[in-house]
Amino acid sequence: MNFLITGAAGFLGASLANSLVRDGHQVRGLDDLSTGDPQAIDKSVHFTRGDVSDRPKLWTLLQNVDCVYHLAARVSVPESILYPREYNTVNVGGTVSLMEAMRDVGVRRVVFISSGAIYGKQVRQPLKETVRPFPDSPYAVSKLSSETYVRTIGELWGIETVSLRVFNAYGPGQNLPPSHPPVIPNFIKQSVRNGSIIIHSSGEQTRDYVYVDDVVRAMVAAATAPSIDGEVINVGSGTETNVRDLARLIVEITGSSAEIIYNPRASSGIDRMCADLSLAGEKLGYSPRSMLEEGLQLTIRQDTRFSNA
Ligand code: NAD
Repeated sequence: MNFLITGAAGFLGASLANSLVRDGHQVRGLDDLSTGDPQAIDKSVHFTRGDVSDRPKLWTLLQNVDCVYHLAARVSVPESILYPREYNTVNVGGTVSLMEAMRDVGVRRVVFISSGAIYGKQVRQPLKETVRPFPDSPYAVSKLSSETYVRTIGELWGIETVSLRVFNAYGPGQNLPPSHPPVIPNFIKQSVRNGSIIIHSSGEQTRDYVYVDDVVRAMVAAATAPSIDGEVINVGSGTETNVRDLARLIVEITGSSAEIIYNPRASSGIDRMCADLSLAGEKLGYSPRSMLEEGLQLTIRQDTRFSNA
């Protein structure tokens, strides 16, 4: 098959692109390299640097494409609170531009990578796709409105659409920015350096951490799965882990003497997050394969930033 991946030089985009070319597909990648790293992509991916809102570029890239994976986005919740307009422009505007270009060219299917963040604070766990979302950041709003645009424009113009609500993905090559880094690579970095791991609040807050290979398998399945038009589907591990246990596990695996420090005044965000995976099982034949401990070991071993530390 012929694929276009937006955000192809990012953490999830590069893993997906590399997996698809290994399976013999033709893959084009688009990324503006605002955070992505082109070195992470296999040489046989046809890579173009550019903005996801550049419709003339999209018209060219979309020729003869069977399925588009849309991952290009700004991805930081705290940054989105500071710059909501930017998040609306890139995440929502980029999605609408892409859908318009897909309509113009006549592409059959798009797989949009949404986020578990759209659920916000919910008492009942695990989270089913049918619960009413309560996004609590501009990032989450941008993902929820993109889901709605994707489904609506798709329905109007006969493009098959599916949105995957990915929970907290982790694995080798995850972007590690200096401010507000994602929790797993940040804890690993501190741990391998025997530094300090700082936990916001009590560490009782839970998240659903899903290994990158599992996310890639769900994304691959979404390109060809039948009867998924218009669906939104959770992709997670289905397991709830609190941040305190996560930190302890990382310290144990790395054999580190890192100190775990609690900052009770820092906000811990949403209390609980865990994906219900029934629909993913039914529609994509998905079930997660990597347990957290194994996924962390693979991350530490395969990511040279940690294995060479
Ligand atoms: P990432 O930052 O590594 O990847 C995003 C990529 O998009 C980067 O390579 C960046 O350069 C590119 N990009 C940003 N703005 C662009 C623009 N205007 N035009 C073209 N490219 C642009 O993040 P990731 O973790 O790989 O996330 C990929 C997608 O998955 C995002 O849409 C994100 O919202 C979603 N997602 C990620 C997670 C996770 O835990 N990693 C969870 C839920 C959803």
